Amino acid sequence: MKLDQTLVDAAVELMNQRWPTGEPGGAAAVRLADGGILTSVGLDNMNGSVALCHETGAFIQAYTQDRTITASVCVCRDLERGRILILPPCGVCQERLALWGPSVEVAVPQEDDATRWEARTLAEVNPYYWGLQFAEGQWPSEAQHSK
Ligand SMILES: [Zn+2]
Repeated sequence: MKLDQTLVDAAVELMNQRWPTGEPGGAAAVRLADGGILTSVGLDNMNGSVALCHETGAFIQAYTQDRTITASVCVCRDLERGRILILPPCGVCQERLALWGPSVEVAVPQEDDATRWEARTLAEVNPYYWGLQFAEGQWPSEAQHSK
């Protein structure tokens, strides 16, 4: 299943539940191959080195349930300008998503409007994925990721 507005709305809904308007916050939602959606928020901590991205919980839920992620969205609230931004996955989350292959779709902001999303595959976001060097030029399989 592909990235769609329903997935973006799920992330926004969770963000609004967890952090009422007027507070900073964010959330993520992932689409599963079976059509399901998992959502999560990041773990904040005064020690920033132990904080987690909003996507992490949903990724771990999917992995725990042995379900396949096909799309991922992350959003955050821009308090200064009163808007919701689409956040592309950070480098670490791109690494985490690599487990599910190069065709996983992620939301990225439109070039002229950071509040609107476009879908890109993980391979498009990370065309020089390092793991290709260890899998004979192919995207590493889940089994190769699990070694
Ligand atoms: Zn991240």
